[in-house]
This record gives sequence, structure tokens and C-alpha cells, in this order.
Amino acid sequence: MAETIFDKIINREIKADIVYEDDQALAFRDINPQAPLHILIIPKLRIATINDIKPEHEALVGHLFSIAGKIARDEGVAEDGYRVVMNCNEAGGQSVYHIHLHMLGGRMLGWPPFTDQPKAQA
Ligand code: AMP
Repeated sequence: MAETIFDKIINREIKADIVYEDDQALAFRDINPQAPLHILIIPKLRIATINDIKPEHEALVGHLFSIAGKIARDEGVAEDGYRVVMNCNEAGGQSVYHIHLHMLGGRMLGWPPFTDQPKAQA
């Protein structure tokens, strides 16, 4: 599995606006925010896509959601509401092949979310 830009963020080889870190996970602001609050929550373990999540990763993936709830409280969007989404592969809009939760908040989010526009690769 190839290294991605997220490994460089984990290893502090490139800068990011980090809002949370523990031994298993990291959260930082998206460089191209789609909402006033747009945070990426990633495991430090490199897992390329949702398709690569194994039973032994279940606690880790659950941990990412737990972090989302904490960040929502810290950032003041927990009560108003927010969205957490993970894209998978090209048709799902994934551009970085290291799983990550997108956490979006701070505005009303439309549903369904699709625009049918192909996304530029990161
Ligand atoms: P996805 O397209 O679901 O794989 O999401 C990848 C996200 O990573 C996109 O929303 C990008 O804006 C974001 N991104 C790419 N490079 C960086 C970076 N250096 N710092 C923060 N976010 C990034």
C-alpha cells in the first residue's frame, strides 16, 4: 500500500492544522474546506479504503467516530448538527487512499449530497 500525503502529515513532514491527536489517530482541518468546519479524522495505521477494513480494525474505525463526537463538542456544532462521511474509491469521490472521515459542519448541509461532478484528484 503506497504512502500518501496523510503519512507525511502524521510524520510532520508537511504541515497541517491539527486539532486532535492520540496514539491511534489524528484530526486536522481540510486544506480545501467544503463547510465552515471541515475536519479530516484519520487513523495513523494506513488502511487504503473502506474495502480494506478488516475485523481487527473495527475498534480503530469506531474510535474515529468517537473523536468526531468530541471535536463536534469542542467546535460547538454538536447541538446544531454536522455530517461525517467516508468516501470509497473513484466513484465514491476518494482521492487520498488512506481512510479518513470527513467531518462537515457550521452550515446547513443539503441532502442528497451528490453533485454528479467528477472531482479533481488531490
Ligand atoms: P477524499 O477526496 O475523500 O479522499 O478526501 C481527501 C481530502 O483531503 C480532500 O478533501 C482534500 O482537500 C484533503 N487534503 C488533501 N491534501 C491535504 C492536506 N495537505 N492538508 C489537509 N487536507 C488535505
